[in-house]
Amino acid sequence: MKTVVLGAGIIGISTAWHLLERGHEVTVVDRQPDAALETSFANAGQISVSYCEPWANRDAPLKALKWMFSSTAPLLFRPQLDWQQWRWGLQFLGQCNDAAFERNVAQLVALGAYSHAALKDVVRSTGIDYHRLERGIAHYYTDPKSFDAAAEAAALMRKYGVQRKVVSREELLQIEPAFRPFGHRIVGGTYTPSDESGDARVFTQALARLCAARGARMLYGHDVVRLECTGNTITSVAVQDQLTGATGQKPLQLQADAYVAACGSYTAPLLRSVGVNLPIYPGKGYSATFALKQPDAAPLVSTIDDEVKCAITRLGNELRVAGTIELGGYDLSLDTPLAKARCQMLADRIEQVLPGVCDTTAPNYWTGLRPATPTNIPLIGRTKVNKLWVNAGHGTLGWTHGAGSGKALAELIHGERPAMAFGFHGFEAERGRLTARVA
Ligand SMILES: Cc1cc2nc3c(=O)[nH]c(=O)nc-3n(C[C@H](O)[C@H](O)[C@H](O)COP(=O)(O)OP(=O)(O)OC[C@H]3O[C@@H](n4cnc5c(N)ncnc54)[C@H](O)[C@@H]3O)c2cc1C
Repeated sequence: MKTVVLGAGIIGISTAWHLLERGHEVTVVDRQPDAALETSFANAGQISVSYCEPWANRDAPLKALKWMFSSTAPLLFRPQLDWQQWRWGLQFLGQCNDAAFERNVAQLVALGAYSHAALKDVVRSTGIDYHRLERGIAHYYTDPKSFDAAAEAAALMRKYGVQRKVVSREELLQIEPAFRPFGHRIVGGTYTPSDESGDARVFTQALARLCAARGARMLYGHDVVRLECTGNTITSVAVQDQLTGATGQKPLQLQADAYVAACGSYTAPLLRSVGVNLPIYPGKGYSATFALKQPDAAPLVSTIDDEVKCAITRLGNELRVAGTIELGGYDLSLDTPLAKARCQMLADRIEQVLPGVCDTTAPNYWTGLRPATPTNIPLIGRTKVNKLWVNAGHGTLGWTHGAGSGKALAELIHGERPAMAFGFHGFEAERGRLTARVA
């Protein structure tokens, strides 16, 4: 069976890998010169099965309103003259209640567990090295009220089988001693020993090379121009080589038995062109990566700082801090006053919590667009257009859910039943039903 995968981020590459495992003839298309050069490039690196709560919760609307005028707010809604943004915002509001929150958590935990097992299998069979650290994830609090609420959240997560322990300040500092200089501000934390961390870009690029070695055709530097339809069936996809396009050559027409849209945030506009409406909107986030000045004093346990809602992860000889979400369109600028303030906040925070550990004079700032759904649950499945499949909308958790999402979609395309009850089907998403159905 021939399959064309559009997009070479963690999701597209993982889908390609699992299709190859099933004997498919695979072509991967991406506009970038290599895999993982957009949202999968410099994320926080957390395989965060146990910290997977969606942004939509009962307190989110009020918090978002309060934060609207703060340049360093963790969640920033920047209203645009864009119906897609408002529609998405209304769907998000519809998820801001306890029933939806719990339903979404159950789905995210299930997909997380399935994906973690899939990731371990891929690593075992390929031996890919990507600065992996199997040290768990710690979350520290500086505000006693927030720490009290953390116990309630941990109890809810335990209901879904997640091992999230509430720990005292001393216990937290034993788990990760690197934060001792900031210990006087920490009031306590939580810890999930089974979580892990690693570099999503390194992993994805290595897996992409293995896909190529197994015979996948990798069309980098190619723009997806159009999905060609006859009736309700995709007949081909037009892709333009950026090199020959510049000299006026016509696009290539790729034909296949199945087409997978895995273009991250850009999946929504691409599929709208064939009448498929997906609730995906870009959520801009930032990261800063620093060389280590004192490797021995740097943390090994990936950590979440509750006060500024950022994640701190050791990746080899570097430390990455990442966070915040901005809902304001497809803007990737790093040089606006707002973007500068958000980046600076990350660098300042690292100097506060780990003084002198990193070279903060030479930060490597980056921004990416999380393909966010109102539920935080990705859209994995068949669409109403024949031969067109989707694997997108992984929001804050695409690295965590990448291996499993790729495997699940490959299983579905191959006519297998995924070995888990996750069942969020694309066609349901199109009808605007945002709750996942357990298969
Ligand atoms: C600041 C930040 C921190 C994060 N931290 C974490 C974390 O710690 N853990 C976690 O699990 N997740 C995290 N995430 C989320 C995760 O990075 C994303 O969910 C994931 O990278 C999405 O992968 P993707 O393959 O769907 O999208 P992408 O990586 O963006 O891949 C889509 C690909 O499609 C290609 N494409 C798009 N349109 C076209 C077109 N027209 N023609 C050709 N090619 C096209 C792009 O070039 C791109 O390579 C974070 C995200 C951000 C922004």
